[in-house]
Amino acid sequence: MANPIRIGLVGVGKIARDQHLPVIGASPDYSLVAVASRQGGLDGVPNHRSLPEMLAAGHGLDAVALCQPPQARFAAARAAIEAGLHVFLEKPPGATLAEVGLLVEAARARGVSLFASWHSRYAPGVEPARRWLSGRRIRAVSIAWLEDVRHWHPGQDWIWDAGGMGVFDPGINALSIATHILPPFFLTEATLSVPENRQAPIAADLRFADSAGTPIHAVFDWRQTGPQTWDIRVETEDGTLVLSRGGAALAIDGHDQTLPPEAEYRGLYDRFAALVRSGASDVDLTPLIHAADAFLRGTRRTVAAFTD
Ligand code: NAP
Repeated sequence: MANPIRIGLVGVGKIARDQHLPVIGASPDYSLVAVASRQGGLDGVPNHRSLPEMLAAGHGLDAVALCQPPQARFAAARAAIEAGLHVFLEKPPGATLAEVGLLVEAARARGVSLFASWHSRYAPGVEPARRWLSGRRIRAVSIAWLEDVRHWHPGQDWIWDAGGMGVFDPGINALSIATHILPPFFLTEATLSVPENRQAPIAADLRFADSAGTPIHAVFDWRQTGPQTWDIRVETEDGTLVLSRGGAALAIDGHDQTLPPEAEYRGLYDRFAALVRSGASDVDLTPLIHAADAFLRGTRRTVAAFTD
């Protein structure tokens, strides 16, 4: 496909405005054709109130980017795939594992590309970290994802509902990096702290191990005020690697590594264009499996009510 990919976007919210729309607008690979939004709206392109309305309008779309909360993703993705469109899924790719499995099958049967995006994997320090760790013996890993929910998620009720995943909404970004740079691991123990008035955890303490028994400890906490922390520390036989600022910074034995500038969403959209043009899909469920395992295996602890 030499022409730009004619793309529609669904869910004109925070991440759509912060990242998707600017990146699509700046890329020669894409032409934004329409948006579907229940209440938002965007100047300069046709606006529809829903995806079915956008599909029925006959815009000649090639693809859609789905930027709603995960609970709304499956129905939209299925409709888009049935309409023969390539689909870009925001993270996490769905509210359950089984629904994403059905989407994979549907996309294969319809011959369209499905992309489960994990934006943190495109942070500039992640690929160099993966290369440095490859083949090195790892002794221990600690992950700290500590942020202030009131600052980052004001008024987002869906995030506290069943399927919204609570602190796993950011925490799954840590898992998406860890599963990319470390050998396979599995959950051994978890404690989920759930506010008494909410369905989803405000904090999680997770213990994992790989098949060699290497301990991996992750703490996600939304009650962090002051400095915010998104760090992964990997101790190896040859030294210590620290990925910080969500993968934007990398230090090895205390020496800061020179990295290219942040371009996570440009990386995602380049990847999606390559998938569409080669007829391939890219759906890695591993980060979602670990999150689901924590809900399956974790001890639930009720903590103080949370109000915005
Ligand atoms: P948001 O602003 O709260 O919601 C995005 C949009 O989805 C809303 O503006 C709304 O769009 C639509 N929407 C909201 N609730 C809905 C519902 N119950 N059913 C159907 N549509 C609904 O959320 P966001 O922060 O952009 O996050 C959306 C997704 O992107 C999440 O999966 C999140 O994990 C991921 N993400 C977010 C960030 C971030 O920094 N916020 C970063 C990376 C990834 P309309 O009013 O246009 O219909």
